[in-house]
Amino acid sequence: MQVFKFGGASVKSADNIKNVTSILSKYKSSELLVVVSAINKTTNKLEELAQAYYTGEKDPFELLHEVKADHFTILQGLFEDANHPTFDDINNSFVEIEWILEEEPQDTYDYLFDQIVSIGELVSTKILAAYCTHIGIPTQWVDARDYIQTDNTYREAQVNWELTEEKIRKDLPSILDDHVVMTQGFIGSTSENFTTTLGREGSDYSAAIFASCLNAEDITIWKDVPGVLNADPKWFEKTELIPELSYTDAIELTYYGATVIHPKTIKPLQNKKITLSVRSFLDPESPGTKIRTTNQTLPVPSFIFKVDQVFISILPRDFSFIVEDNLSHIFNLFHQHRIKVNMMHNSAISFSVAIDDTGKNIETLLVELEKRYKVSVARGLELITIRYYNQQTIDRVLVNKEIIRELKDSYTCQMLVKNIDE
Ligand code: ASP
Ligand code: MG
Repeated sequence: MQVFKFGGASVKSADNIKNVTSILSKYKSSELLVVVSAINKTTNKLEELAQAYYTGEKDPFELLHEVKADHFTILQGLFEDANHPTFDDINNSFVEIEWILEEEPQDTYDYLFDQIVSIGELVSTKILAAYCTHIGIPTQWVDARDYIQTDNTYREAQVNWELTEEKIRKDLPSILDDHVVMTQGFIGSTSENFTTTLGREGSDYSAAIFASCLNAEDITIWKDVPGVLNADPKWFEKTELIPELSYTDAIELTYYGATVIHPKTIKPLQNKKITLSVRSFLDPESPGTKIRTTNQTLPVPSFIFKVDQVFISILPRDFSFIVEDNLSHIFNLFHQHRIKVNMMHNSAISFSVAIDDTGKNIETLLVELEKRYKVSVARGLELITIRYYNQQTIDRVLVNKEIIRELKDSYTCQMLVKNIDE
């Protein structure tokens, strides 16, 4: 069997959805499970809505109205009959958000976030499944929350693999015999049936979970790029497609911030030796990139750029050494404030990290750190990672930049840099 994953951009309009279903019709006779994200910017808008509701700073109903309108425009482009039952179905899904908004917020923000934002995936898959059925692709919509079992770390739930595998294996294979199974990325459920999410951009990971539990032959992530490129076209004029990539290189590249695949996706696939293809839904005949067991190293150096980096240097106030107890205290604070470290470095008396500038949580982290350490902060930096670097590639990215910190091992070079003012 095969697993396909379609991201938000692939279903952003009625025409895009039609394009996805034309790909599905080519594969519908093989056993196929399809994982879909929320439509286009829906997750961001629902996140904004959840914040508006929680803080009371904005009218959440206005944002809900906007999200609903986006979805109804698409429905109108797909179904001529305004009485098609999917219109009601989608409306009812949004009513679940209205119910939440009608009460004052009682629960934690993270819990509310998951209950609200998960609706994005529920409605996108309902629309796509209904359209597939409409054009004659035998499709069964299933609720991922009946399968993906997690703990209750809302917004970053950890998967209970044993329970998940048991549930998936129990009834999905028989449905796959005669239907395309369509389900949501990103969402799961606790043992008490509360909705959880697996972390932003987590739909790739969901697809890998289904593929692993079903022992899929392969999995394809359909994107708006031709495959895995050696750099993001946003930063480089000329990029190269990497036709084949080892699991290890793929894990390293995503770990350092290549956004083409969610970093958690690859490990479960590597464990089961399931090939992962990254292909373009705009050019579905092209083979794209295959990630699998190979001795092939990357044919070209790969570049990963992360902008808006904050560099934090931490020194114990009493000039004690940076040792285990300091480090565990610091990492605990990072964990509590949901900080993800992109680069770290320690010396005898200082520890420094580069992290994404995610706003408020950094301010509260700094307040906590200052209580025990002398802290210095630099903002507006850029983190450049080169996998399979050489001096020429380093020189190429350092034009008009000054290095603040550099880390190298045999394959990877990471440089935290700042622009030199002209
Ligand atoms: N819709 C979710 C997000 O935007 C999950 C995903 O797209 O993978 O984060
Ligand atoms: Mg996405």
